[in-house]
Amino acid sequence: MIYLDNAASAPVNLRALEAAMPFMTENYANPSSAHTAGREAALAVIEARERCASALGALPEEIFFTSGGTESDNLAVLSGTLKSPKRKIVTTQIEHPAVLNIISELERHGFEAVYLAPDADGIINVSSVAAALDDNTALVSVMAANNEIGTIQPIEEIAELCRERGALFHVDAVQAVGNVPLDMRTLKADYLSVSAHKIGGLKGSGLLFARKGAPLCPMILGGGQERGIRSGTENVAGIAALGAALEDVTRNISERVEKVTALRDLLITRLESIPRSRLNGSRTKRLCGSVNFSFAGTDGETLVLNLDLFGICASSASACSAGKQTVSHVLKALKVPEEYLGGSLRLSLSEHNTREEVLKAADTVRECVERLRNS
Ligand code: PLP
Repeated sequence: MIYLDNAASAPVNLRALEAAMPFMTENYANPSSAHTAGREAALAVIEARERCASALGALPEEIFFTSGGTESDNLAVLSGTLKSPKRKIVTTQIEHPAVLNIISELERHGFEAVYLAPDADGIINVSSVAAALDDNTALVSVMAANNEIGTIQPIEEIAELCRERGALFHVDAVQAVGNVPLDMRTLKADYLSVSAHKIGGLKGSGLLFARKGAPLCPMILGGGQERGIRSGTENVAGIAALGAALEDVTRNISERVEKVTALRDLLITRLESIPRSRLNGSRTKRLCGSVNFSFAGTDGETLVLNLDLFGICASSASACSAGKQTVSHVLKALKVPEEYLGGSLRLSLSEHNTREEVLKAADTVRECVERLRNS
């Protein structure tokens, strides 16, 4: 198998697995229990919180463990709006559905939302954020890096702007963590979402960074875990794994980025030589592992299934459900020409991929595209 779907889920990091293992085997105690085993589980949660905080340049009390990126995004958007007298939200057309759908839910409850368009390269212009901000803006939510096309957004500048203009700022950093340095001491965001399974942790865990003093509005009420912000018995194994994974992935970012960028650029060069192909998103302002191409005259979903027959795991931005082709909202926002909208393919690399895998994948994509075009 050649795994080129790391943006969907990354391989589990061995240190993360080691950290999780005791809490999936011999120590199954509830961290709220007063006995020794319970206290050990509680200690693991405390340690993981410290590791996550230190990896992000945050304070431990600014870290709230959740069930993943989706919950963190929902929690941030609700927290940044529900307690505010202001009624406007500024976001972008290319956010993940975890942000877009909670915002459209708020629109049904009287909020106004502005969805900023990216430029043709998939980048959000800081001046468009400035123009949309007004005294009624409660929250701005802009992702650090896009999950489909990998474009990296100018979040530092947007954060400065929001701070100056008195709006809260949420960053969905699910795809950016470990690929882009993020330090909450310098990044002036109020909320930041992280998902564990994109960085070598376990599925079903994640965190929300919420800056000290930022409003918080719990969505899950119950026994008062996570200082009353997120009730429910803690996912101790997932939390312990997240602590180890986040520490590891934020450690040697530049080394990893250098290695993966070389693979990415090789893949881009190979795929560009396929006739009627198109690289979606900026060539330079993109995640080191992210490659998104459209091939005219093909269908993304069929291409993914064909590649699977050759043992290559990839993703399509478009999905065909019940015979109805749904086109990627991201590619639409980029105003990708009609002939390139349906046949898009996302190949996402990690440091575990090799040059040989990239060359083999590129040849196989070419073969599958030709076959689909001739069928
Ligand atoms: N935000 C982005 C940018 C993502 O890529 C994803 C997952 O694909 C999510 C949020 C949701 O994360 P999770 O799968 O942990 O709910």
